Amino acid sequence: MQFIESRGNDGIRPSAVSFSSAILEPLCSFGGIYVPEQLPDLGDDFLQQHKDSSYQILARAVLAAFQVDIDEDVITAALDRYTLFDDPENPVPVVKVRDDLYVSELYHGATRAFKDMALQPFGVVLSSLAQQRDEEYLILTATSGDTGPAALETFKNRANVKVACLYPDGGTSDVQRLQMVTESADNLKVIGIHGNFDDAQHALKSLLSSAAFKATLREKDIHLSAANSVNFGRIIFQLIYHIHSYLELVRQGEISLGEMIYLDVPSGNFGNALGGFYAMQMGLPVEKILIASNQNNILTQLIKTGHYDLRHSSLIATTSPAMDILISSNIERILFALFGARRAKALMLQLSNERHYALTATELQELQRYFAADFCTDEEGKDYIKQVFATGYLMDPHTATCFKAYETAREKPLKTIAYSTAEWTKFSPTIASALTGEQGARDSDALAAIARAADIAIPESIQALFDKPITQDVVVDKENIEAEILAFLAHHPA
Ligand SMILES: *Cc1c(COP(=O)(O)O)cnc(C)c1O
Repeated sequence: MQFIESRGNDGIRPSAVSFSSAILEPLCSFGGIYVPEQLPDLGDDFLQQHKDSSYQILARAVLAAFQVDIDEDVITAALDRYTLFDDPENPVPVVKVRDDLYVSELYHGATRAFKDMALQPFGVVLSSLAQQRDEEYLILTATSGDTGPAALETFKNRANVKVACLYPDGGTSDVQRLQMVTESADNLKVIGIHGNFDDAQHALKSLLSSAAFKATLREKDIHLSAANSVNFGRIIFQLIYHIHSYLELVRQGEISLGEMIYLDVPSGNFGNALGGFYAMQMGLPVEKILIASNQNNILTQLIKTGHYDLRHSSLIATTSPAMDILISSNIERILFALFGARRAKALMLQLSNERHYALTATELQELQRYFAADFCTDEEGKDYIKQVFATGYLMDPHTATCFKAYETAREKPLKTIAYSTAEWTKFSPTIASALTGEQGARDSDALAAIARAADIAIPESIQALFDKPITQDVVVDKENIEAEILAFLAHHPA
């Protein structure tokens, strides 16, 4: 299968590329991103056939449907990463929390958040491709807290790949920061910056347009790639768990094969929800995808009104920071899938030039065939955490936003799978405050308070972070990031 560009082709770049090229060189004509030329159809028997398949076998079948140009042994090694999750037999458990509501837990990997679902196999694939081509890659990433640890974890000590990761000092939880600053592999560089996540992202962008920086990379023969969800190599692994979660409900006897359900997705950059959308288009019986957002409710606005309007919005820091986003990159892939490249290009250019766009009434109707949405405030989220804990389920503030959408955005009484994107350990101060009323605790105290309240143990990997030596202690002003990265590349030649 070939991959084409969301904003059409400029006549200079290749008009279609293979899966491996789309992963290694994610930049497209007119600032677009790669999309599958057409989605495979799973076919009538697929779900029946894979009713009892392991996660890996199901994953292999989905990759085969996309005809990815990756060697079998690389795919095997990539999917083997899922055996390192809590339950080697099932990386994604699905838990019943109400009569018609189930939580699919995407956080059982190394860094305790859903980014591991895609980044664990992605790291193996990208490094293997780089080795096969005998090329060196640099992955630059700016993180609000979850992508950074997951990217460092998957690429540590991997051949032909280096990672430089920028995070806002003071802008992440203690656990997230420790997961980064205690990483010691030679091919990793972690840089704290004075500023917030926007500043980190901005710094990354200006670095990418710096002539001196690009010249240095050329001179060292280093290629740049990306590990965020604009890279289709991540999206493909975010499709599999939607199908798996559906089949889990069938296996548990909660739904019959073919029964329509809702998926309920806490969303920011829209990679998770896009995976659900693709699965739905490929034949998974999904009524609609409920998009849950926080007070940065740009996605709710789009899905309810057809208007994407940044003119009066500014980013709000919420207790679900991984969803604090105003420019949601993967919406572009939805625009492409529903309205084609020409329209996607026009809308995206209007967004960057005028900071808003509006869909036509017909387009909005089309969007609403697939999506419904609602947003959840921090206060509402805390109430859900408390309420749901009282019924025996502990969840993080991102997962909590799904409960609002579940209550308000469903049009039919169908069973619903909500996605849990982070373990309680990653956002413990907010959860502790929801459960005990006490505010402002540090992670170490909040973790202990929750462990007591819920009578559970703090996972070993999280507890150990507090005793690990800090090996990445650089915190700089934005102006000094380039020098830090150049020094890193100089000291760690390929
Ligand atoms: C990244 C992340 C999200 C948002 O996922 P998208 O695919 O960007 O929409 C939600 N919750 C958590 C905990 C995350 O780390």
